[in-house]
Amino acid sequence: MEHDVVVVGGGCVGVSTAYHVAGRTDLDVALVEKEHRLAAHQSGRNSGVLHPGFNYEPGTRKAEFAVEGTRRMKAFCDEHGVPCEEVGVVVAARSDAEVRRLDDLAAQADANGVDATVVDGERLRELEPHAAGREALHCPEAASVDAQQYVYALAREARERGVTLHLDTEVASLDRTAGGYSVRTDSGTIDAGVVVNAAGLHADRLAHSVGVGERYHVVPFRGEYYELPPDRRDLVNSMVYPTPDPELPFLGVHYTRRTDGSVIVGPNAVLAFGREAYENTDVDLDDLRDALSYEGFWRLFASPKMLRVAAAELGTSFSKARFAAAARKLVPAVTESDLAPSYAGVRAQVVSRGGDLVKQPVFVEDDDRGVHVLNAVSPGLTCSLPFGDHLAERVEAMA
Ligand SMILES: Cc1cc2nc3c(=O)[nH]c(=O)nc-3n(C[C@H](O)[C@H](O)[C@H](O)COP(=O)(O)OP(=O)(O)OC[C@H]3O[C@@H](n4cnc5c(N)ncnc54)[C@H](O)[C@@H]3O)c2cc1C
Repeated sequence: MEHDVVVVGGGCVGVSTAYHVAGRTDLDVALVEKEHRLAAHQSGRNSGVLHPGFNYEPGTRKAEFAVEGTRRMKAFCDEHGVPCEEVGVVVAARSDAEVRRLDDLAAQADANGVDATVVDGERLRELEPHAAGREALHCPEAASVDAQQYVYALAREARERGVTLHLDTEVASLDRTAGGYSVRTDSGTIDAGVVVNAAGLHADRLAHSVGVGERYHVVPFRGEYYELPPDRRDLVNSMVYPTPDPELPFLGVHYTRRTDGSVIVGPNAVLAFGREAYENTDVDLDDLRDALSYEGFWRLFASPKMLRVAAAELGTSFSKARFAAAARKLVPAVTESDLAPSYAGVRAQVVSRGGDLVKQPVFVEDDDRGVHVLNAVSPGLTCSLPFGDHLAERVEAMA
């Protein structure tokens, strides 16, 4: 089999890239996905929030993609009947330090062209009567989206543009050839002029197999959710977040009203013992060995702060009482019995050799034949349209 362009990975980044390559060029594009369905991993196991960009440093690729991505995804969902609701978000501040941080967030929002204002406790209580906080940042542009329906709508449009989808097809290895890449899968080999590696939790391995991006390594962090029962959903009107710690890439347990009316609580950020370890009892020995033999892993956890945070997050995974305690910091009326276990997702958090959590989207080009997406970091869903478009532009330049 032969295609001009092969995209590996049927998550939001891979599907968006295939859609945009097919829109920009006449190239013959195929997308290869190992699962029976699209969006089976990160893209279908997230909070489904469009993060409009108040939390991202102005001038960075992440800020640019988040702002543009929010706008473009709202328009896409509107046009294609994908559930998407602009419910807004409040970021609650409970301490002096957090109150000061709200001003930084408001300034970032302003620089990024995002509508967000600091409101006092009284206004916070009008917006979210059950939320705790002395002040809050209110950003009405934040939205809740059905991520799986979005990926499927994008895939339908990609097929309309001529993209071939190969589901149930796992890429075992990539090999460079004179004309591009040879993509060896469990159902045969595909010759490709250009490959886009958007394999999410496994993208680093495919890239390393051809000597690309060896500075980056995925360390999996599971995010677990609970859900409020229907008769307690009125505790939250929109989305309620804690004030983020600028040193940590994860937001902390928060509340999200989803497009189906449900309210999810979470996610935490627990070091996972496998890249697809969705339960806290799941262990993949190869993945675990891989993480433990990576110097960046040990450097990351050499930091006392990271160790403390990791231990606390692990506690919320094994003890519902601890998870409820974290949830109560934002909405004190929530009790342990209000929390029903829901789904989990695993983040492909890229850690550098030096032990830093890489916070910006990263992709590495391999001459004129490959683009390896090594860090489609959160908010990767929000960023997926401009990110995929940008990757497609790179493919267009290579082909
Ligand atoms: C718990 C959690 C909460 C999040 N919340 C948000 C949020 O609210 N808003 C937001 O914007 N972002 C959020 N994110 C981030 C966002 O979900 C990700 O950044 C985004 O989904 C990454 O998309 P992707 O296409 O790169 O990866 P994925 O969705 O993981 O897709 C990669 C695909 O590649 C396939 N694959 C892997 N290896 C192979 C192989 N060898 N052969 C063939 N196929 C292969 C996989 O099966 C998978 O379908 C969250 C993530 C998590 C985990």
